[in-house]
Amino acid sequence: MSFIDAITHRRTFAIISHPDAGKTTLTEKLLLYGGAIHLAGSVKARKTAKHAVSDWMEIEKQRGISVTSSVLQFDYEGHHINILDTPGHQDFSEDTYRTLMAADSAVMLIDVAKGVEAQTKKLFKVCKERHIPIFTFINKIDHFGRNPFDLMDEIESVLGIHAYPMNWPIGLNGNYQGIYDRRSASIELFAKDTSHGQQKLSSTKGSAADPRFKELLDDDVHKNLIDDIELLDMAGDAFSAEQVANGELTPLFFGSAMTNFGVKPFLESFLQMAPPPQPRHAKEGIVEPADEEFSAFVFKIQANMNPQHHDRMVFMRICSGKFTKGMSVTHCQSGKTVRLMQPQQFLATERTGVETAYAGDIIGIFDSGTMGVGDTLYTGKKKITFKDFPTFPPELFARIRAKDSLKRKQFLKGMTQLAQEGAVQIYENMGSLESYIVGAVGPLQFEVLSYRLQHEYGVTLEMNRLPYTVARWLALPDTMAYSDLKNIDSAMAVKDHKQRLVLLITTDWQTNWIAERNPEVLFCSTPDEL
Ligand code: GDP
Repeated sequence: MSFIDAITHRRTFAIISHPDAGKTTLTEKLLLYGGAIHLAGSVKARKTAKHAVSDWMEIEKQRGISVTSSVLQFDYEGHHINILDTPGHQDFSEDTYRTLMAADSAVMLIDVAKGVEAQTKKLFKVCKERHIPIFTFINKIDHFGRNPFDLMDEIESVLGIHAYPMNWPIGLNGNYQGIYDRRSASIELFAKDTSHGQQKLSSTKGSAADPRFKELLDDDVHKNLIDDIELLDMAGDAFSAEQVANGELTPLFFGSAMTNFGVKPFLESFLQMAPPPQPRHAKEGIVEPADEEFSAFVFKIQANMNPQHHDRMVFMRICSGKFTKGMSVTHCQSGKTVRLMQPQQFLATERTGVETAYAGDIIGIFDSGTMGVGDTLYTGKKKITFKDFPTFPPELFARIRAKDSLKRKQFLKGMTQLAQEGAVQIYENMGSLESYIVGAVGPLQFEVLSYRLQHEYGVTLEMNRLPYTVARWLALPDTMAYSDLKNIDSAMAVKDHKQRLVLLITTDWQTNWIAERNPEVLFCSTPDEL
C-alpha cells in the first residue's frame, strides 16, 4: 500500500455518550466485526481483569466507572481504525476534551429510551466547536424506546444539529425486526440472535419493494414502515455530504449493540462517510497529513500503568508523515532530540509493538519525563508547534501535603508527574513549600489523586478542601506589585506551574467586587486569556 493510500484508509474517531448508553458494548462489537476479537464479552470481562485494556486503573473497578480514556486499533476491509475511548464521567471532562482533539470524527451514542443526556450534550459541544463530523447511533432498539421521530426532534432542538436517518428501524417497542436502508431502499431482516450477541448476526437482504418482505413482516409493521419512509422522504432534510463534513448534519443510524442489530451496516456506512486524517493547524501554518515530515502531538500521558515498573506512557496523535520505530524527532518544547523507542499500539486484548505508523494513528511511547500533555514532536528543519490545549477553569480546590514528612521527595515527584499528565492542576502555595494547592473540575479528580499518590508513590495525603470556587489569572501593570492589590483578604494568592499569579476566590460575586476595586488589573478566567 502506498504512503498516500495508507493515510486515506485510516479512520480515527471517538465515541461520545452518557454513561450506560452502551459505549463499551458497541466498541466491543466493532472489534468483533473487525475480527480483532472472536467472542464478544472479552473487553467487558477485562474491565475487571488486572491489566484491563480500556480501564487501567484499579479505582475504576471499585467504582464501576470508566475514569481513563484509551485507544484501540483494528482493521476492517482495508481500513485501519483507531477508536479513542473517552471517560464518561463528567469529572474527567478535561481529559475527554484532549482526547477529542485527537479525533477526526465522533460517534455519538444515544440510548433509545433516554434520548440526549447531560454528558452527551457537553461532549457534543466540544465536537461542534471543532466542526468535526458527528455520526449518531441510536442504541438499544431491542428494548422499549422512544419514537424515532421524537428522538430526531430532540437532537435538533437540544443539540442544534439536523439529523439524516441513514436507516430506519422496522417494528417498534421491543418488536424490532430489522432495518430499512434508505440509500439502497432495501430491507435487512435479522435472524433471531441465538448467541446472545456473542457472534455476528446473519441477515436477509433485499429491495423494500420485494413482495417477500411484505410477507415476512406483519401487515401493520409493513404499513408503518412505508408511512414513515414516505414522511422522511417528504419532510426530512436532504442529505448533504458537505454539511456532514462540517458537522452541520449528523447521519443517524439505529441499532442495538448488545444483540449486534444494525452494527455491521453502521460500521460499513460510517467507514465510507467518515473522513480520513485531516489537516491540522500549527502556529507555523497548516500541516497536511501527507506531508513527508513526521509530526505529532501528545494528548494524553499515563504514568504507572504497570506500577511495578513506574513506566510513563505518552500517547500521541500522528498528524503528518510516517513513523518508524526508533526514529529521532525534535521535541518542540525543550528543543531536544528524542528517539522514539518501543512504540506501542493497543489491540483488543493486549498492547503490541509497532514498526511503522502513519498520519491518523495513535501510538504510545515510554518517556521518562521530557514530554508533557499538548507538546509537539516533529522531524525536519521546519519547526512545528501545534496549538496548546485550552485550560479548563478549575472550580474546586484543596490544600494537600504528605502525612509523613519523610515522604516529601516521593510526594513532590508524584505531584509533578500527575500534574504533567493533566490529572489535576497544581499551584504553589505562596510562602509554604510543605503543602500545595490543587485545582480540579470535578471532585472525583481529588479522589483519584489521593488514590494514585498512595498506590503509585506510597504517599498518604492529608487533604483539606478549600472554600474557593473561582480562579482568576491576574495580569498586573508593570508598575504594580502583588502587595498593591486591594481588598483581597478573603481570597488566596497562589502561583501556577508557570509561576503566573492566580487568585482563588469564594464566589463570582466576590470576584466582581475585587475586580471593581482593582480596575488596573486584568482578571482572566483561564491563563489562555492573559
Ligand atoms: P457504557 O457505560 O456506555 O460503556 O455502557 P455499557 O456498554 O457498559 O452498557 C451499559 C448497559 O447497557 C449494560 O448493561 C449493557 O449490557 C446494556 N446495553 C448495551 N447495549 C445494549 C443494547 O443494545 N440493548 C440493551 N437492551 N442493552 C444494552
